[in-house]
Order: sequence, then C-alpha cells, then structure tokens
Amino acid sequence: KCGVKSMQGKPEVDFTKIDINLLPTVLIVGRPNVGKSALFNRLIRRREALVYNTPADHVTRDIREGLARLGDLRFRVLDSAGLETEATSGSILDRSAGMTANVLAKTHFLIFLIDVRTGVHPLDMEVGKWLRKHAPGINPIVAMNKSESLCDGTCTLAAAIDEAHMLGFGDPIAISAETGLGMTELYKALRPLLEDYMIQVLNDNCNQEKGSSQDASDETDESKLPLQLAIVGRPNVGKSTLLNTLLQEDRVMVGPEAGLTRDAVRAQFEFQGRTVYLVDTAGWLQRTKQEKGPASLSIMQSRKNLMRAHVVALVLDAEEIAKSSRSMTHAEVVIARRAVEEGRGLVVIVNKMDLLRGKQLNEKVREAVPLEIRTVIPQVVGFPVIFISALEGRGRIAVMREVINTYEKWCLRLSTARLNRWLRKVMSRHSWKDQAVQPKIKYFTQVKARPPTFVAFVSGKTRLSDPELRFLTKSLKEDFDLDGIPIRILQRSIL
Ligand code: GDP
Ligand code: GDP
Repeated sequence: KCGVKSMQGKPEVDFTKIDINLLPTVLIVGRPNVGKSALFNRLIRRREALVYNTPADHVTRDIREGLARLGDLRFRVLDSAGLETEATSGSILDRSAGMTANVLAKTHFLIFLIDVRTGVHPLDMEVGKWLRKHAPGINPIVAMNKSESLCDGTCTLAAAIDEAHMLGFGDPIAISAETGLGMTELYKALRPLLEDYMIQVLNDNCNQEKGSSQDASDETDESKLPLQLAIVGRPNVGKSTLLNTLLQEDRVMVGPEAGLTRDAVRAQFEFQGRTVYLVDTAGWLQRTKQEKGPASLSIMQSRKNLMRAHVVALVLDAEEIAKSSRSMTHAEVVIARRAVEEGRGLVVIVNKMDLLRGKQLNEKVREAVPLEIRTVIPQVVGFPVIFISALEGRGRIAVMREVINTYEKWCLRLSTARLNRWLRKVMSRHSWKDQAVQPKIKYFTQVKARPPTFVAFVSGKTRLSDPELRFLTKSLKEDFDLDGIPIRILQRSIL
C-alpha cells in the first residue's frame, strides 16, 4: 500500500512509483573539474546542461537539481559544480561555499567525486575536511571519475583505490561519467542506502495518512499541481536576488557581475503548501553579443525553459525606467510577447523600487509601466504588475500571490453547461453588427486548460469576425475573472 513491497521477508521499494517530493536528495561534491556536471548530466539523462573544460571560468557555478534515473533507482540529484573551500580564494568561490553549506542541510546522501588521473589532490583533502565539518552525519560514497582513461573497465586500479582511502571515507568506486563505466557499482552502493531511507519515509507517511484519509477527493484539481515559474529579464535587473528571496536561502549566487547565473537553475520551494519549481533563465536577453561560448548555449536553454514555464515573471529595473522615456526595452517587449504567444501566464515585476528617490518618481514609474504594457501587448489586458525591492527581501508574498493567482486562472476549467448559459446571456447583451450574416454560435465549450482554450461551434460557413472574437474574449475575461491570461478561442463549423 505504502509503496513498500515485501520480497521474501525483505522489504523492497519501487522508486519509479514514488512521488518526487518524497525521494531522497543526493548531492555531488568535489573540487572543480572532476566531472560533477558530467555525472549530473548522465544521471538526469540530459545532454543540454553545460560542461566546459574551463576551470577558471566556472561555467557551472550554480546548484542544479534534477531527477536522477539509475536503473530502477530514482532520486533527486544536486550538482554543486564548484564546491570551494576556504583554501581557495576569489569572491565567487567564497560565496559558493556558503551556498553549498545551505544545500547540505537538505542533502541526504553524498557522492564525493575525485579525478582518478590526478589521484588525490590537496584540494580533495580540503573538500573531505570541509564535508566532515559541515555534513558530519553523512558518509560520502567516494567515486573516482574518468576511470576509463586508466583502464579498459576490467582493471582494478589498485593503486588509485589505495590512494583514495587517504580521504578516510572507505572503499571508493571507479566510474566514468563520460562513458558510463561503473554505473552498476554506483547503483549497488546507492541502492541499500536509498532503500533504507525510503522505507522509513514511506512508513512515516503511511502512518500519518491513516489518521487523515477521510477527506481525500477523487477530483484532481490541476491548479494544485506543481507550478513551474520562470524568472526572466535583462542581466542585472535582480533576477538572482529575487530568486534567493523566493527560495529564502542562498541557493543562487548574487553579484554585480552581469550574467553571473549562466546555467538554468532548477530549484524547488514550497509556498503556502504548494510546490513551485523555479526555472531560472538568466541570460535570455543577452542574445546579440556573445554568439559563441557558454552564454549562447545558456540562451538556447533559456528559451526552452521559458516554454517549460507555466508562469513567466518578467523582471524590470525601476531605476532604468525612471531614467528613460520607455518602460521596456525592445528585448523586454519581445520576451513578454513571446510568453503571451506561447500561452504562458505573465507577471511583470518592477524591481529596485528602493532606488527611486521621492514620491513623484515613484508614482511616475507606477503609472508608466502598466500603461506601456497595455500598448505593447494589447491582446491581453490586465497583467499583474508588482513593484518590489528584492534587495530588501521584500516582495516575496506579493510576487507569489500574483504568480499563484495567475496560475490558478491559467488552470481554470469551466463546464460546458455553465459556458453555454453564459453564452446566451452574452449574445443577448451584444447587438451583432450585421444581422444578415450574424454567425450563430451553436455551442461553446472549453477544450483545454493551461492556458484556457475554447471552441466556438458556428453554423455553416459563417465565421466570427475579429471584433466579435475580441468581444467574446473580453466578455470571457470579465465574467470569469481571466484578466491577464492569454486565452484562446478557436472556431469550428457545424451544419
Ligand atoms: P565539474 O567542474 O566537476 O562539474 O567538471 P565537469 O563535469 O565540467 O568536467 C570537467 C572536465 O572533465 C570536462 O572536460 C569533462 O569533459 C571531463 N570529464 C568529465 N567526466 C569525465 C570522464 O568520465 N572521463 C574523462 N576522460 N573526462 C571526463
Ligand atoms: P541578475 O543579473 O538579474 O540575476 O541580477 P542580480 O540579482 O545579480 O542583481 C544585480 C545587482 O542588482 C546586484 O548588485 C544586486 O545587489 C542589485 N539588486 C538586486 N535587486 C535589487 C533591489 O531591489 N534594489 C537594489 N538597490 N539593488 C538590487
């Protein structure tokens, strides 16, 4: 019942059937360039994440999260590319350490990656020391990566194994993130640990549920499904700062360096009992300059991530707006339009309000932004516009309230009966211009939510004209409170 089967007296867990939120978290740690990202990518089976052989550049500096599949094992995997210790210097590196410490608090298991070609490096010892200090309760699985380069898969790497014992975490396993060598060994090392963990969690959950199984409803309300939120905007508008405010932890580095958040971060948090997945899409508006290298790669990802999002939060910079005659740059208009065309919910966030000196300036910005949005995206009226200061940590609740509100509208489903009652009322309200070709809507129905999509069945060859479609859209929005949502109306002929 609880996901635990008993096989000959020994309980067995089917990981493939377990809710992602219950799965344990495995963090991959190691000094730069040992192959953490490569292993992360292999585990999540995605090739799109960035792996570059440029330790100095630190392409993957953020912590990424993904669902790992290893045989029939499933777990949440975190890639801490660039776990740095006090031994390494540089502002970015120091901040990484603080960040990783935060993530350790959420970690259940560790894979400590080293590079078999260099053997145990002084920095590996530092990482080991750091782990003993910050994650004393977790015994890491030491994995010697790049083993394919030293043997053909059958050799024992005796010397390397001996050396890895220096780290003091027991027997290492030999793997290759690049070729997949040793994945069975990794599976064997992880399986018992994850299984024990899962059995405990499932049993706890089961006992809790026994107390409260009465009120479970059969209907799945789509708006209760996890929300995917993308934060987009030009570099330096404060996306990372906002992200941290939302996560309430130092998960993504924030700094004055433009384009610091290169890779798309997928993080997860809870807000008022609802799961929110964050898809960070920094760099999305940097298209023009860097066509080669990491930045352009992450732009590709950003685009994809935008399409993955349910709600897109476009962040603007209040200070820039105050200085300029336009509230949105061309690039920002493009992205807002793209989001709407793709049927995403859009929330506009004006950040850095703390930098506006004086009431007048403040009011000017508050007026200008909604006005300009209405002009550049006339097809969808009433986007929420929120004015915040992410730096001061304010705005989390205001932002999330609008994001969730938008998401709930975006998920709305109206019954056909209700829609047709509504349609009769609306038709009588409206005097269609030319009675002779008055299209007869026979029937009106919602075919899909996320975003709400409707079909109007019209009789014969008649078509609804653009003004008629606009009128219907406007009425739907007003009567069902769908302001700011890109709704669609399709037409079908019936005889
Ligand atoms: P990270 O800094 O620890 O995330 O390391 P990356 O995943 O970015 O990898 C650093 C370099 O090592 C890249 O050039 C990878 O292609 C390379 N690499 C990663 N895994 C392997 C492996 O199993 N074998 C070999 N030969 N190279 C690898
Ligand atoms: P990103 O490039 O969009 O991710 O921007 P960041 O979050 O890295 O922020 C860029 C700079 O703006 C950093 O120096 C932040 O401290 C600063 N910043 C972010 N939000 C605010 C804010 O609300 N007010 C002020 N004054 N500065 C902010």
